[in-house]
Amino acid sequence: MKALITGCGIGGPAIAMALREVGIDAEIYEAYGAGAEGVGAFLNVASNGMAALRVLGLHHEVARAGIPTPDMVMSSGTGKRLGRVPNGMTLDDGTVSHTILRSDLYRIMRDAATARGVPIAYGKRLVSFDDTGSQVVARYEDGTSATGDLLIAADGVHSRTRRLLDPEAPEPRYTGLYNCGGIYKDSSIKGEPGVYHMVFGKRAFFGYTVTADGETWWFANLPRALGDEPADWRPVLEEAFADDAGIAAALVRRADLGQVFPIHDLPPVPVWHRGRVVLTGDAAHATSPSSGQGASQAVEDAVVLARCLRDAAGHREAFGRYESERRERAERVVAYARRISNSKAAGPVGRIFRDALLPIILKRQANQESLAWMYRHQVSL
Ligand SMILES: Cc1cc2nc3c(=O)[nH]c(=O)nc-3n(C[C@H](O)[C@H](O)[C@H](O)COP(=O)(O)OP(=O)(O)OC[C@H]3O[C@@H](n4cnc5c(N)ncnc54)[C@H](O)[C@@H]3O)c2cc1C
Repeated sequence: MKALITGCGIGGPAIAMALREVGIDAEIYEAYGAGAEGVGAFLNVASNGMAALRVLGLHHEVARAGIPTPDMVMSSGTGKRLGRVPNGMTLDDGTVSHTILRSDLYRIMRDAATARGVPIAYGKRLVSFDDTGSQVVARYEDGTSATGDLLIAADGVHSRTRRLLDPEAPEPRYTGLYNCGGIYKDSSIKGEPGVYHMVFGKRAFFGYTVTADGETWWFANLPRALGDEPADWRPVLEEAFADDAGIAAALVRRADLGQVFPIHDLPPVPVWHRGRVVLTGDAAHATSPSSGQGASQAVEDAVVLARCLRDAAGHREAFGRYESERRERAERVVAYARRISNSKAAGPVGRIFRDALLPIILKRQANQESLAWMYRHQVSL
């Protein structure tokens, strides 16, 4: 059996490697002409994502390239500490959640897939496919095509495959927040290594973690109407954090802001598979970064899909099993992230409720069990 995988992001290589573990050949077709080295900011790989990477033998390498971030400390814009909550669990080998540059995670996944013999073709933007019943033919923008037994979509939040599979599929939905961030070097900024400091400010949200060698990895979420994009974001961000305690205002005044972009997630996608074609990762269930779960969910999908293809009688049964194992969990993550994003984008009245309720919610979350459904989950092949 041969699978054609659309997209060489995080999920695409994970799927190819998981499939090879169960004896299925896979080829990856990526839209861009070259790899995504140096692109993107950083992301969280939570303990459940590290557990999924462990199945592929990659969690140690990812841990080495990232920084451990097992905890979060929340505070309000006044500087009041609201609570400390775990950012994941500890795996039985001591591994915790890590933060890693997206480009480093991408490089590790792609290089590992290549080393394991997975062919990756670049400049192959999928535009259509034909499912003939016995095979599937993927057609690319450059006029070429590829034929396989399965077409597996790992083509991200703006997935073309999702739309081809179901023209009624929902569009990505704006969360009400713009995002920016990056890495700022200033050893005078202090913070407890391993801890994300999350500040629910008066007008915007600010998160950062300080590494042992004096780097501040930071991001800001700014509530804003979609499309309201100033030529210069710096004064807008300075103004947003002007009344908040902490480092936010000073940092956005000096730091490279990186790319400022609107955050989207996906409403539930009714059709995850049809015939020989199946959706995975962000193409099926994109979450906003507020959950810190996008990459983790994509790698979990890869492992579960490979196991289902190995164990089921045929691809139809396998895709059905995969969906029933993954849909509820992935959509619960999206909904969880949406609630957090909404609290970040709260208006003046919502803010009063949020600041009153957050300490109670965080107290509950400080008990590891309340988010164990998300963080303790361990997929297996
Ligand atoms: C360049 C880039 C930078 C990112 N940076 C961050 C970040 O800083 N922080 C964060 O939290 N998340 C980031 N993300 C999103 C994050 O990687 C995903 O949420 C998560 O890893 C889920 O992975 P995925 O494989 O489902 O999708 P993605 O990692 O988004 O990968 C999708 C891949 O499919 C390719 N593709 C899209 N359409 C087609 C097509 N028609 N034909 C062929 N290939 C196609 C894309 O070029 C991409 O390589 C980034 C994604 C990308 C693509």
